Amino acid sequence: MPSIRFSCPQCRTRLSAQRDQIGTPATCPECEWTFYVPSVDEKEDEGVIKFFCPFCNRKLSATADQFAREIPCPFEDCQKPVLVPSPEWKALPPVAPEPGV
Ligand SMILES: [Zn+2]
Ligand SMILES: [Zn+2]
Repeated sequence: MPSIRFSCPQCRTRLSAQRDQIGTPATCPECEWTFYVPSVDEKEDEGVIKFFCPFCNRKLSATADQFAREIPCPFEDCQKPVLVPSPEWKALPPVAPEPGV
């Protein structure tokens, strides 16, 4: 199934979302915390995240000490600086929700 799994940043409830919900606001059904759906599959207890190079679209992985830092794409024909996504979720600014999409 094309879904991703992640934890609620507030109450750590395990949640899942469809890939087309990545980067969109979601509300936790348990604690009603609103957050952005992360763009990575969260791996259980490994401190490693997988993400895609935005330049060559190949799958990369990074460890906890690389979160939110730029690393060069490890593929020789790319080597572009890639910002490693951070597993921390951004809190939503207090804006009114958009009218029905
Ligand atoms: Zn929650
Ligand atoms: Zn690349």
